[in-house]
Amino acid sequence: MLGALKKRGLHRIGDVLFLLPRVYEDRRSLKRIAQLRGGERGTIIATVRDTEESFGRGRRFFRAILADASGSIAATYFQTGPWLKARFPIGKRLVASGEVRQSLRGWEMPHPEIEPADDVETSPIHFNRIVPVYPGFERHEQRSLRELAFKVSEQYARAIEEPLPDALREKVGVLPLAQALRIIHFPPPETSLAALDGHQSDAHRRLAFDELFFLQLGMALKRQGVKVTPGIAFDVAPPRLEAATGLLPFTMTGAQARVVHQLARDMARPEPMNRLVQGDVGSGKTAVAMVAASLAVQNGYQVAVMAPTEILAEQHFKNFSRVFEKAGIDVALVTGSGASKAKRERRERVASGQAMIAVGTHALIEDAVEFAKLGLVVVDEQHRFGVMQRHQLMAKGVRPDVLVMTATPIPRTLAMTMYGDLDVSVIDELPPGRTPIETRVFTDKGKSRAWEAVREQLAQGHQAYVVYPLVEESEKVDLSDATQGAEQLKAIFPTARVGLLHGRMKQDEKDAVMSAFRAHQLDLLVSTTVIEVGVDVPNASVMVIEHAERFGLSQLHQLRGRVGRGAAKSYCFLIAGYARSEEGQARLEVMAETNDGFVIAERDLEIRGPGEFLGTRQSGLPELAVANLARDQDLLSLAQAEARAIVEVDPALERPEHVRLRKALEERWEGRLKLARVG
Ligand code: ADP
Ligand code: MG
Repeated sequence: MLGALKKRGLHRIGDVLFLLPRVYEDRRSLKRIAQLRGGERGTIIATVRDTEESFGRGRRFFRAILADASGSIAATYFQTGPWLKARFPIGKRLVASGEVRQSLRGWEMPHPEIEPADDVETSPIHFNRIVPVYPGFERHEQRSLRELAFKVSEQYARAIEEPLPDALREKVGVLPLAQALRIIHFPPPETSLAALDGHQSDAHRRLAFDELFFLQLGMALKRQGVKVTPGIAFDVAPPRLEAATGLLPFTMTGAQARVVHQLARDMARPEPMNRLVQGDVGSGKTAVAMVAASLAVQNGYQVAVMAPTEILAEQHFKNFSRVFEKAGIDVALVTGSGASKAKRERRERVASGQAMIAVGTHALIEDAVEFAKLGLVVVDEQHRFGVMQRHQLMAKGVRPDVLVMTATPIPRTLAMTMYGDLDVSVIDELPPGRTPIETRVFTDKGKSRAWEAVREQLAQGHQAYVVYPLVEESEKVDLSDATQGAEQLKAIFPTARVGLLHGRMKQDEKDAVMSAFRAHQLDLLVSTTVIEVGVDVPNASVMVIEHAERFGLSQLHQLRGRVGRGAAKSYCFLIAGYARSEEGQARLEVMAETNDGFVIAERDLEIRGPGEFLGTRQSGLPELAVANLARDQDLLSLAQAEARAIVEVDPALERPEHVRLRKALEERWEGRLKLARVG
C-alpha cells in the first residue's frame, strides 16, 4: 500500500486527508444478484461457483461465476493468472462491488472489487455505509486505502486547523473544515448519493468554497498590491473627457458610456488602473480604448497599444491614426517586421516622446523599445498574451494604468478566476444599425445550398470567408483541409478570385493575402483559424465554416464575428461533418439561436469545462479539484466578495483572526501562485 501511495504522490497524512473520492459506493445495504440493474453499481455477497480462463484475439480473459440464492453473475477480467484465480477459490463467500452490465453471456461485473465476506457484519469501515472510491487506484487497492482513509479521517481530521474565521464561515454557511473532510471520506448514511457523486454535498461545497476563496484571496492581495503603490492620477475633468469622446465620429452606446465612465474614474485615482474590458466582437471596445488613450495623451502621457498579431496591430494602427492624427497626435507602429531603418526611426519617435501613441505587437515589450513617459497600457485580446508580457510592458512606464480588452466573451466565473486581480467592465450592447448575422447549420449533404447562398453574395459584390479546421491532411483523413478546399472552391466558383491563408505561411505571405482580401482583390478567402483574431473587412458578408463540429462554440462565435461588420446583412453557415454526434448538433444549434457571445460562452463552458474552453492549458487557470466554474457561480461570487472585503480591511492579513488564513493561503498557493501570478 505504501508503494502505491508513494507512486501517486501521496506522502503525508494530509495528502490522504485531502484525497477526494472520485465516486461513492452505496453499501448501506447489500443487494441480491436478482436486484442488480444494468448500468448501475452494486455490491453483492455471493459464493464462488466456478472459474474459467479463455483466450481470444490475442487476449486472455478470466471469469468467476458468483451466485446467491437469487441468481448468478460473472466477475470478468481482461487478464488472467494464478494470482487472480487464487482470489476466487470455489465455495468461498465474497463481497463483490462494481458496475453491472448485461453481455451476450448474461450479467457481468467487469473488474469488480472483491473483498472477503467474513467481516460483512462487523466491519465499521467497509460495509453498511456509503464508502468512497478513490481516483488513481486499482479496485483491489481500494480496500486498504479505504482503511487508511478511515483511520486518517477519524484520527487526524480533527487536528486540521480551521483556516476560515468563524464569522466568515457562518456568514457563508459552510461546514467546519474538519467535519467536511471527515464526511467527504465517510458520509453519514442519510447523505444523497447523487449529491456525493456530483461533488455537490455540503462537505464538497465547503471544499469548493475553500478552493475558490483562497484563489480569490490571493488575487485580491495582488490586486491590492497593485493598488497600494501610487501610480498616475490623471486629470479627467469634463472638458478633457468631452475632448476625448469628441474624437469619436459617433455617439457612444449606453454600454460604452458606462465603461468610459468606469475607466475615467479608475484613471483619476492615484492607484494604477487594472481593468479588463470584455465585449463581443464589434461592440466598440477599441473606441472605448481610444477615449482612455486620449485622456492619457491630454495629460502628457504616452500610450502603448499591444495586439497579438501584425494584422491586428496594423488594423489598430490605422484606426488610431485616423482618429488621433486629425487632432495632431503622432501615432507610431511598432512591429517586428519591416526595414530596420524605418523601425529604428519609429522607435526613436517613441523614445523621444514625439509619438504619443505606439501601436504594435509584442515587439513593444522588447528591450530596444523605450518610452519617454508611458502612462497607459492597452492590451488587446488578453488571453493570447501571458500575464508576464502584460507586466513586461507595464515595466516600461512608472506604474502605468492598464486596460485589457478581450473580444472573447468569458463567462463571469472564468473571468473572475483568471483575472481576479483585475476589475471587469462589460460592453454588452452593440452599436446601432447592425443587422444580426443569420446563422444556419447544414449537413455535409446540404452543403450545396450554402454554396448557392455564397454565390448570391459574391454576385452582389460582397466577399466571403470559408474556414477549415486543419492546415494539412493529418491522420484525421476525414477532415478536408484548407489547401484542398481552396482547389475545390475554385472549381465551384470559377469566376471568383480565391485566396488561401493558413498558419504555416510566413507572416509576410499572410499579410499579403490579407491585404489583398481587404482591398477586394480577392472575393473568397479560404482560411484556417488564423483569421479568428479581430480582422475587419466590412465588405465580407458571408462565412462558411467547414467541420463546424470540430470547433468550440466560443471559437465559432469569434469566427462568425468576422462578418456582419458592414451595413449589409450577413450570414454564417456551419457545415456539420457526417461524424457529428447528437450533442455536436445541439451545440451548433446554439449558434443559430443566439448572437450573444456571453450566452454562448456560458454554454461552451458548461459543455467543455474551463480547460478546454480556453483552448489552452497555459491560460493561467488553476486546476480546481472540487469547484466547478460552470456550476459554482454563486459560490465564486461569494468567495470573491468575501476575499476582497477581508483584504480591504486587513491588506497584510495581520489581524489575529486572519493569521490562520494567511498561513493557509501560503500553503495553498505554494507552487500555484506562479500560475495566476501577475508580477
Ligand atoms: P471592438 O474593438 O469591440 O471589436 P470597435 O471599437 O472596433 O469594436 O468597433 C467596431 C466598429 O463599430 C468600428 O467600425 C467602430 O467604428 C464602430 N463603432 C464603435 N462604437 C460605435 C458607436 N457607438 N456607434 C457607431 N459605430 C460604432
Ligand atoms: Mg477589437
